[in-house]
Amino acid sequence: MNGHIAQSHIPRPPIVVVMGHIDHGKSTLLDYIRKTNVVAGESGGITQHISAYEASHKTKEGKEMRITFLDTPGHAAFSAMRAHGATAADVAVLVVSAEDGVKAQTIEAVKAITSAQIPYVVAINKIDKPNADSEKIKRELSEHEIYLEGYGGDVPVTAISAKTGEGIPDLLDLIVLISELANLTGNLSLPAEGFVIESHRDPKRGVSASIVITNGTLTKGSFVCAGDAIAPVRAIQDSLGKIVASATFSSPVLIAGFDAIPPSGALFKSFKEKCGAEDAAAREKERAQKERARIIGNPNAKVSLPLVLKTDAQGTREAVIQELSKIEHPKVNIRIVHSGVGDISENDVKIAAGSEHARIVGFRVSVDKRARETAERSGVSLETFAIIYNITDYIESEVAKRAPKEEMEETRGEARILRTFSASRDKQVVGGTMLSGALAVRNKIKILRRGVEIGQGEILELQQQKVKTSEVRDGEFGIMIESRMEIASGDTIAAFMIVTK
Ligand code: GDP
Repeated sequence: MNGHIAQSHIPRPPIVVVMGHIDHGKSTLLDYIRKTNVVAGESGGITQHISAYEASHKTKEGKEMRITFLDTPGHAAFSAMRAHGATAADVAVLVVSAEDGVKAQTIEAVKAITSAQIPYVVAINKIDKPNADSEKIKRELSEHEIYLEGYGGDVPVTAISAKTGEGIPDLLDLIVLISELANLTGNLSLPAEGFVIESHRDPKRGVSASIVITNGTLTKGSFVCAGDAIAPVRAIQDSLGKIVASATFSSPVLIAGFDAIPPSGALFKSFKEKCGAEDAAAREKERAQKERARIIGNPNAKVSLPLVLKTDAQGTREAVIQELSKIEHPKVNIRIVHSGVGDISENDVKIAAGSEHARIVGFRVSVDKRARETAERSGVSLETFAIIYNITDYIESEVAKRAPKEEMEETRGEARILRTFSASRDKQVVGGTMLSGALAVRNKIKILRRGVEIGQGEILELQQQKVKTSEVRDGEFGIMIESRMEIASGDTIAAFMIVTK
């Protein structure tokens, strides 16, 4: 490594994210490449999953290149970083099933990729299936404004089977080609920086995090600050589980010993001295504090739904927040008063109790016994879920419930006045015929003349065929109305109710 230290801006292997609709074969593709292209090194015997791996690929031209693939939690990091305007990957692979074609999440993935402004390649997958139809998929893609090479655009496309491996070397060739065009470089002499893919608290090892280095060199003995968490770099574990003395771009590595759980998608930097890392952490803490009372939705909404959110991992926390951010209500926003990883604790309940009508939501976590007792005692509502969309449904209905009620007039019935019988100062007896709906005693009415409201009143009595009744629905009737406005034959009366919606 010493010989390279002086070199700056040397080519850097690409970091690749695989995206697409569920069940279109992302995991199968990642597994296939892992199995066939990862150099089986000496394993450290520690099988902790690192959420990313490095593959090596030799192109048809004989060029060899290293490629880093982000695994499933890497997608969460990708989305979380997008939310902050940063990008975790250099290249994306959009997987589209040759059977199913373009689906909702295909479109979502394309949006995320294009907003990240990274190049991508389309992999039409499952071509081994008898009813696969690549040409149909290509047409579908262009209908969705994904303009493929050879179809009037410049997005490279290749057909693969993640199951049999057919076409995967071509896909890797394309990734190499795109990466070369992107001219990715890095500087070995800088301190390492990059982002967190995933972090875990382990009873034995403490807090460890998988990180991907995007620039510089990470060495043993330095200090890392990721989000507001810091860790001394005592051991660097590569994606094969091997302990290495240093690591550089674009390698994923595992670092243990963080003093807090750094969130998925958080940026990290390394420092020679501990104080450098501590300063960075303090700055980040301050920034995060400001962001903590995070508002989702219309920031100008007059009403907020306070929310405490607990999830099983940082990645899922970001994913839930991401989904919640799709809830739109003009009058109500969601204010996350507290969020974190782990079971719902008494402390979470206390925080929720501090905000009026707060809701506690847990995702794939359980509820502490004391937390449940405290929640019952203080009347704090607490729900746990195993499916993200159930959380969004729940919160959406809570948001709707919280919406300020509006008073609206609802017409219950209309009638035409045919004749007038008697009128005192404010009571009139008239006869009419029903036009629609119903009229009932005590209903408020509007009096309309040629379609224009001329006054209001209230129904005191109703009669049909000389018999007193409380309601009329059709036919002719007699009515006593309390109103200052003198009613004439030909007027329309409309009974209405004030309803809150
Ligand atoms: P993901 O949700 O996008 O990660 O999709 P998976 O990788 O879990 O794949 C969903 C299903 O499709 C699994 O049952 C896979 O075995 C299957 N599958 C994925 N790729 C292929 C393929 O190329 N050919 C066939 N026949 N099946 C595939």
